Amino acid sequence: MVPIRVRVLLGCLGFALLSACGGGPTFIAKNQPQLADEEQACLASGTVRATGSILTRAALGGPSACGAEQPFEMAAADHGRVVLKPAALLRCPMIPQVDRWVVNVIEPAARRAYGVSLAEITVLGSYSCRPINNVSGGYLSEHGRANALDISAFTLADGTRIRVKSGWRGDARQRAFLHAVHDGACAQFSTVLGPDYNALHRDHFHVDLAYRGADGLRTVCK
Ligand SMILES: [Zn+2]
Repeated sequence: MVPIRVRVLLGCLGFALLSACGGGPTFIAKNQPQLADEEQACLASGTVRATGSILTRAALGGPSACGAEQPFEMAAADHGRVVLKPAALLRCPMIPQVDRWVVNVIEPAARRAYGVSLAEITVLGSYSCRPINNVSGGYLSEHGRANALDISAFTLADGTRIRVKSGWRGDARQRAFLHAVHDGACAQFSTVLGPDYNALHRDHFHVDLAYRGADGLRTVCK
């Protein structure tokens, strides 16, 4: 049984130079109609449906550069088998990609390195109306569009916990697992950042579906 939590999510008004929720750092939001198109196509396709572990949420505030038209709260992947804790607030196109990452990459990596199934993913962050790296005056983070997910640890069915922070340069099994998870993410997302990228990512993997380049196909995998 997945508990349904009620959270108050405030939107941020305006479209040019914005102040984040609660008087936080300001940011610049580029107009990105492609992201809205991608979300519409995802919603229309019926790929993502509300289930016990994928909950629909009200829109994240009024007219705003932040949020998504129809956000979802993803409490588990792989048909409810792998728990996301806490549940991640994501836009529609992120959900099948997270699911494929879990099923096609993380689960096989866990079986290979430990001979045990994946049970839980520790979510460090998902939706957050803020600039990239929280640097005031910067561009809006993909987290502000519910288009990004930060993950700090993985728990296997036998209770083994593999943390990005200690495991990235940890023992051979931790390294094999985490590097496979990171590298495999690059086939599912347009941006993948880990501890080798910079100090801000020493304790988590960041994955997102940023629209980058003229055709939206340019990827970053670091
Ligand atoms: Zn992130």
